[in-house]
Amino acid sequence: MFSQFALHERLLKAVAALNFEEPTPVQAAAIPLALQGRDLRVTAKTGSGKTAAFVLPVLNRLVDLKQKRVEIRALVLLPTRELAQQTLKEIERFAQFTFIKAGMITGGEDFKEQAAMLRKVPDILVGTPGRMLEQLNAGNLKLEHVQVVVLDEADRMLDMGFSEDVERLCGECPNREQTLLFSATTGGAGLRDMIGKVLKDPEHLMLNTVSQLNDGTRQQIITADHNQHKEQIIQWLLANETYQKAIIFTNTRVMADRIYGHLVAKDIKAFVLHGDKDQKDRKLAIERLKQGGAKVLVATDVAARGLDVDGLDLVINFDMPRSGDEYVHRIGRTGRAGNEGLAVSLICHGDWNLMSSIERYLKQSFERRVIKEVKGTYTGPKKVKASGKAAGVKKKKADKKGDKKVVAKRKPTAKPKPNAPLASADGLAPLKRRKPAPTAE
Ligand code: AMP
Repeated sequence: MFSQFALHERLLKAVAALNFEEPTPVQAAAIPLALQGRDLRVTAKTGSGKTAAFVLPVLNRLVDLKQKRVEIRALVLLPTRELAQQTLKEIERFAQFTFIKAGMITGGEDFKEQAAMLRKVPDILVGTPGRMLEQLNAGNLKLEHVQVVVLDEADRMLDMGFSEDVERLCGECPNREQTLLFSATTGGAGLRDMIGKVLKDPEHLMLNTVSQLNDGTRQQIITADHNQHKEQIIQWLLANETYQKAIIFTNTRVMADRIYGHLVAKDIKAFVLHGDKDQKDRKLAIERLKQGGAKVLVATDVAARGLDVDGLDLVINFDMPRSGDEYVHRIGRTGRAGNEGLAVSLICHGDWNLMSSIERYLKQSFERRVIKEVKGTYTGPKKVKASGKAAGVKKKKADKKGDKKVVAKRKPTAKPKPNAPLASADGLAPLKRRKPAPTAE
């Protein structure tokens, strides 16, 4: 029951109006501590209800503000435009019975309009660090009166190269009393560094270990011979699976466009979302998907970050994501808030080791699925090691005279896919982090 929390009655009224009955585990753990004013570092998966876990305490802090609205009191930094839009909506829904106003600043939107919005001074400002800094540098943004800073999906902000911007913005809030940091993963040294710099004596809440992720989602692999074969499998899945909405992930924009083209050619209503698309296209794609005008979205990872679309119950990994954490983020699109979902990864020869490393990272074994109608010849490596990876042909020692010829004649062993980052030696660590990119894709 949300009434167990010391939340203002106007907020409890909104919670009831939104039909939130039971707090999710992250809400149950974080809300009371956040209401006490503690700094928090929360590890919680996408779809766990983490937004409300910080929005409600932030609103509670501001709800009784008697002063006339003259300054920004709360700052929410997050990695992408879509996540910013969703978070703003969530804030507005919870603030509907209060006088609290929120505003949003992200790249890809009109700078002057944003400056005009800032002149009206929202109580809560949500946005991506890059544009926020630009507005700050232009003298349009004053943060001295910020009491609480939220860093949402902090791990992803670091991956995208925003760490300096985030630290700078935190430094612009000298009077902040509380900082709440959320990440889907435990992150690495970069996140630890940021935590050390921006949080004061934080309480750590570990709401998920990776192995507990996505209980509501079945995770399958289907082996494939090559990319065209993968496309056939996708068409079969889209034609035969029962799903409301599907998302197909690719590692590259080119592949996303290609798959999209094939789907359209087959009269499948789809949208494509990646970094080459402008903001209008992105909004349209998300709206169409939400409203049901299109059932299928083809997307690259960063473009799909923070998407929260009801009824998204089928995730297809055309390529295996480049790390275990990325896999978790992708699969976090489905099975949200207790719904059932299906995640299917298409595995060619070159994807196998990455896939088996991700299985080990998640401490899960994906279901092997064969579809008779589109069965290929590749069914996985002939031999696998105890780790689950393909066992290669052992190199013969070429130290004796005369052995050289034998080595030269030996057939090449499994060639790594170009650009495919290799799995870590033990398969446990995040396999490879995306290179920092300056902006959201
Ligand atoms: P989030 O992890 O914050 O993106 O939340 C995922 C989805 O779950 C959003 O659509 C929320 O509105 C919804 N949600 C969050 N908390 C609850 C709750 N306690 N009861 C019902 N739905 C919730």
